[in-house]
Parts: sequence; structure tokens; C-alpha cells
Amino acid sequence: MKAIAFGFPKIGEKREFKKLLEDFWKGKISEEELHRGFRNLALWRTQLYKTNVDMIPCNELSYYDFMLDTALMVGAIPERFGTYKGMETYFQMARGKNALEMTKWFNTNYHYLVPEIEKEEFYLFINKPLNEYSFFKEGDIETVPHIIGPFTFLRLSKVLKKKEGILPLYEIGKIENRETFERLSDKLSDVYLQVLKALKKAGCHRVHLEEPALVLDTENWQWDIVEAIYKKLSSEGISIGLFTYYDSVSDYERYISLPVQAFHLDLVSNKENLKNIREKGFPSDKGLIAGVINGRQPWKANLKEKLKLVEELMNIAGSVILSNSCPLYHLPVTVEPEDELPEGLKERLSFAKEKLKELRVLRDALRGCEEALGEIKKSGKLYEDSFGENPEVRKRITALRDEDFRREIPYKERQKIQKDTLNLPLFPTTTIGSFPQTEEVRKKRTAFRNKKISQKEYKEFIREQIKKVINFQESIGLDVLVHGEFERTDMVEFFAFKMEGIATTKHGWVLSYGSRVYRPPIIYGDVSRTEPMTLEEITYAQSLTNKPVKGMLTGPVTILNWSYYREDVPKKEIAYQIALALLDEVKDLEKAGIKIIQIDEPAFREGVPLKKRDWQEYFNWAVKAFRLCSRAKSETQIHTHMCYSEFNEIIEYIYQMDFDVISIEASRSKGEIIEAFERFKGWDRQIGIGVYDIHSPAIPTKEEMKLILERAMKILPKELLWVNPDCGLKTRKWEEVEPALKNMVQMTQELREEILSEV
Ligand code: GLN
Ligand code: ZN
Repeated sequence: MKAIAFGFPKIGEKREFKKLLEDFWKGKISEEELHRGFRNLALWRTQLYKTNVDMIPCNELSYYDFMLDTALMVGAIPERFGTYKGMETYFQMARGKNALEMTKWFNTNYHYLVPEIEKEEFYLFINKPLNEYSFFKEGDIETVPHIIGPFTFLRLSKVLKKKEGILPLYEIGKIENRETFERLSDKLSDVYLQVLKALKKAGCHRVHLEEPALVLDTENWQWDIVEAIYKKLSSEGISIGLFTYYDSVSDYERYISLPVQAFHLDLVSNKENLKNIREKGFPSDKGLIAGVINGRQPWKANLKEKLKLVEELMNIAGSVILSNSCPLYHLPVTVEPEDELPEGLKERLSFAKEKLKELRVLRDALRGCEEALGEIKKSGKLYEDSFGENPEVRKRITALRDEDFRREIPYKERQKIQKDTLNLPLFPTTTIGSFPQTEEVRKKRTAFRNKKISQKEYKEFIREQIKKVINFQESIGLDVLVHGEFERTDMVEFFAFKMEGIATTKHGWVLSYGSRVYRPPIIYGDVSRTEPMTLEEITYAQSLTNKPVKGMLTGPVTILNWSYYREDVPKKEIAYQIALALLDEVKDLEKAGIKIIQIDEPAFREGVPLKKRDWQEYFNWAVKAFRLCSRAKSETQIHTHMCYSEFNEIIEYIYQMDFDVISIEASRSKGEIIEAFERFKGWDRQIGIGVYDIHSPAIPTKEEMKLILERAMKILPKELLWVNPDCGLKTRKWEEVEPALKNMVQMTQELREEILSEV
């Protein structure tokens, strides 16, 4: 019996990864020091793998993103980046002015860079798998390179089509584009073949190719392509293990018939893979890499049950290898330092390091080790009691009726009332909520959290910040103001601090993209609000100005999707619990005279199940959860915000959320996203167009932003359009935000004048 693990978080126990990267960007350390730091991190994680499991992955530690690395491996570098000049170009592609588009990785909160395929050719450019393999080999450590597989790479890339411009391959993955797909995959797999050849030459005899795209709805002809790819790759004679995760593989039979040596299956995310193994069997001459330890949720596994499961699998498949269900980077590194968790929680938790140990214990138990068996016996107790229940909350949920999910009058009528109360100009300008979280702000918050300064001092400080930001927004002429969110570490964590039934960690950092980290809260019990959560700051901000200040809340679906959640209560119910807590807040804000309330739902999209057949169920409750918390008075204008670019397929559900205004990302995709709203017949809601990319430090010019707005005007009535950055500004610096917003407001004012003079 063997165990393997993969995708261990690269952040490091003390966020070393983040520090290295940011120090390098700031010019505090040299490139040499950056590489050295990375090598140390690589060696550290290797050691962890080594002490717990039987195979050590390499090629997992990327300087920014593994999809970007794969693009570089196969030479997919768009022309605008010029000749490749090492790290400089690398980070240009990742975060420069015309960086690659960034989007969410499957249904997770990790963001990857979308490769762009401009020319229909690939060539082996940077053989990172080989470099890493050789690095470890020199230190006498045998590793198994993990590489994103060619099918997944293509399916998630964008391709330049002469007439239509740059298109996502999942869109041209339609049957009429079959030929392009085939041609590309043929050329791409040639490059992969070269990679395998070079690895083999260096002494490597096993690689793991990750093909999570095979869990998406995959047509038969696409499976034909997959078959062709692996037929070619298997010709090299290097042993290949295929990995799929986040859901069940879309066609079990075709998957296990591919000509490779081992298949990883996620046995946690749903029951279908297991059902298929039971009903359809598993080839006796292939390895089953059984993803039994959950890589996405932080709960200790019920090892007693897992033991039984693996024993069953061993009777079906010839050889079983234990593994995690999906990469471990969705989890923090370790629970060890957490000493302020609610009573009884810590013993129920398992983060990445602990998951490695679970794999080891399970493996040892299966090998008959007494100590491991004893440990497993002990752990069973945790699953016997009900933890974190709150009868009051459950009662409120049972009492919900249809009208709790409906606003009093339809949007069209609400719009008229709101127009009169708010009296906003054409193209109202606003921001998404947060303003730069400066060093000073972060320091004060930490000091307060560590009880180094008093609550009074902290609150005074926050008030000063709010005052400054209100003055600034007034001075540049924004129409709808925000309070800046200085009191919030993170849009979800902030509410988690305030809500019952949700725990937060001190060191539980997870990367969401680049060097950006967040600490996902842990929903461990029934959720409720004990007192107002945002009222003080918002009403203070509103008291300083005559312009409307937006109340700023994080929506129930986002709080749920960006947190870990318990698995014994349906997600729908957890979402309604959070929604009710938020509704109480909405009512309080209204009472205090707040006229616009924004309920952010940036994670609405990523919660969407990977397979279409599961969509309806998800949207049923997700839409209802949003409607439940946004059941405001008719004159209260409800905004929502979503910052991603794939609306085409979900736009109907978005519409059902029944908000008054939505702000969206549009800048990285140069406004192409707005076409989704054109295709939707009868779109009548107001839209805030994200005219500049806040993920990049570059300062957008008036011209660039105007282009995006003009593109939107061609598609939607101008009366529906708002103007805003594409997300919150908290990661930016004031030096960047000031000129950027000034340009944005000026551009809008000029455009208004142009339009007025035309009529
Ligand atoms: N209101 C939040 C902010 O501005 C929204 C962030 C987000 O969408 N991720 O920071
Ligand atoms: Zn956003």
C-alpha cells in the first residue's frame, strides 16, 4: 500500500512565498535571492512529503501561476510581450499593464492566468518540469513531475481566430471548432512528448499529468482528442498517472480506457466516481489513485470509514494508491499554531500538513500497523455528537415563506422611485468599496487585534480614514461614495468575525492569486448575527456628505463559497442562515437612512457546479439566498458586484437575483463581456462597467476607459450604464488610485458633455 499527495500549499508556514515575491517586486531582494528563497521553500515542502507519503511531486512551486508556467513550457507567449527576458517578461505576463487575463480556476477561489494562443504553433520553450526534476535528482531526491495536461491547458486557453479575435477555447470547443481543437492538440502534444523524452533521458520514469478539465462536460469528440493525446504520450514509455479532481470524471469508461498506467479519481466531491467504480469496475492492470482525503475542506477525515472504503476499493482494483482528492493548496498549511479557535473546533480540523499525516496513518493502518489502527479507532468519537447547533436559527429557517424571497414591487417600478430619491447624473460614477489598505491601516488593525491599542483609539483611527476618503471622493467628483472598508481585513473574514457559528483563524492563509492571500473562515455551526455589523462606519461616512454613501455587505453565497463549511448541513441551508443575518443588517442600514446598499457576490460564479446537470439546483438556492438578504424597501437601491468575465451562460440566473444595479469586470476582457447582456433579451437593469483593471498597478488613461464605455454604449442603453473600476481598490496604492480615479471621473464628465452637445 502506497500513499501519494500533491498540490501542497506553496505559501509556506510563515507566508515566506508572499514575502519573497513582494520583496522582489519592490526591489528589496535580487533575482538570485528570490531563486534561493524558492529553492528553500521547495526543499521544505519536499521534506514534508517525504516524511509522510511515498512519492514526492516536483514542478508544483510556481513563481506566479502554474498555467502561466505551462504556457511558457510550450512557448505560448503573445507577441505584445516581445522577446522573453526572464523574470521581467514573466511578471509582465502575470501582472503588467497588458497582462494575461486572470480567471477563476474551476469552482475554486484560485485564479489562474489564461494562456493566449496567437499562433497555431507550439515549441518547447522552458522545460520547467525537467529543470525541477534535475534539481532534486542532483540532491539525490527522486521526484515525480506534476504537469498540467495538454487537454486541460487547451480547454482553458484562449485562441486567436482571425475574424472573431481572441476566443476562449471552451467556447470554440464547440463542434464547429473541432478541427482547430484537433490541430492544436496535435501540435501541443508533440511538445509534451518532447518534455517527457527529456525527462526520461534525465532518469525520470514517472510523471503525473493533471487533467481536471475532464470533469467538465466533455463531448465525445473531445474525448477522441484526449485519446489521441495520450496515445501519443504513452508511446514514450514513461509511466503516466492521470489526475482529475473537483468533481467526477465526465466519462468514466473512456477515462479508464486511456492508455496510461494510473488514474486518480476524486472520491470526495461527489459520489459518482465511486458509484462508477462499483458498478463498472476498474482495469486490473492499472493503478487506482484513490482521492479519499478531502483537499478542499478542513475537516478531519473519518478514517474509520476511509479504511473501509479503501479495503473495498482494493477488492475491485488491482492496485490502489491513497491520495488527496484534489490539490492541497485550497487549505492553509497547518492548524498547529491556532490557539484561539472556539472550544472543540481544533480537534476537528485538518489542514494541509495534517492531511499528509492522515494519508500516512491510513496507509500505515492498511499495512497493519497497530499504532495507526489505534489512532484511527480513537478518532471515530468526533463524529458522534452534533457540534455548533442553534435551535433559534433553525426555527427561523423553517418559518421562511415564498414572500420572504420577493421584493415588494418589480424593478421597473422601483427604478422610478429610486431615480427620484437619488437624482444621479448620466453615467453615475462610483467605486466598488475598498480603498488602499496602506501599511498604516494594516498595522493599526493588527495592533487592535493583538490588544496593543484600545478599541477607542482604533475606532478613532478608522473614523479619520473614513473622513479622508469621503473628502477625497467628493473632491474628485464621484457621484456615489463609499466608506473605504478600512475596518475590514477581508470582505468575508470581516463578517465571519461578527457572526456566530463562523470561526476565523490567525494563520490560516491561502493564496488566491499571485502573492495575494486570504484566510478562509470556517463555518462550523449555525450562523446568526448578534448585533449590527457595519452600521457604525457607514452611518458615520454618510453623516459627512450629502452624496449617497453605499452600505457595503458581502453576500451570502460569497460568504459561503469563500469559507470552509460543514458537511452535515445542506449548503442551501447555510446560505439562508447567512442571508437572514445579512437581512437584519439591511434593515438596520435602511433605518439609519442609507439609500443604496451593495451586496457583493464575487463568488457567485465560482460556486456554480462544474457540470451543467447540477446547475439548476445550485442556482435555485443561490438566487434565493441573495433575494432573501436583499429584501429591502422599494426605494432602497440594491447593488451587487461580481468581478469576472464569464456571464454568457449564467446571465439568466443573474437576472433572477432581482438587484437594481450590478457592477462587473470588463477591463481585462476589453469590454467583450458586455455582449452577454446584449444576447439576453430584455436586459433592463443598470450595469456598472469595470473600466479599469485594479489587479495591475498600471494607471489607466482616459482613452482606454472611454473605449470600454463606448463599446458598452453600443450594446446597452446609456441610461443603464454606471462607471467604476472593476473591483475594490484595497490592493492598490494611493499614488495609483488617485490619478486613476481622477481620469475615470474626468473621462465620464467629458463623455457626458459630448453626449449633451450632440442633442
Ligand atoms: N467591496 C469589496 C471591495 O471593494 C469587493 C471586493 C471583491 O469583489 N472581491 O473590496
Ligand atoms: Zn470584485
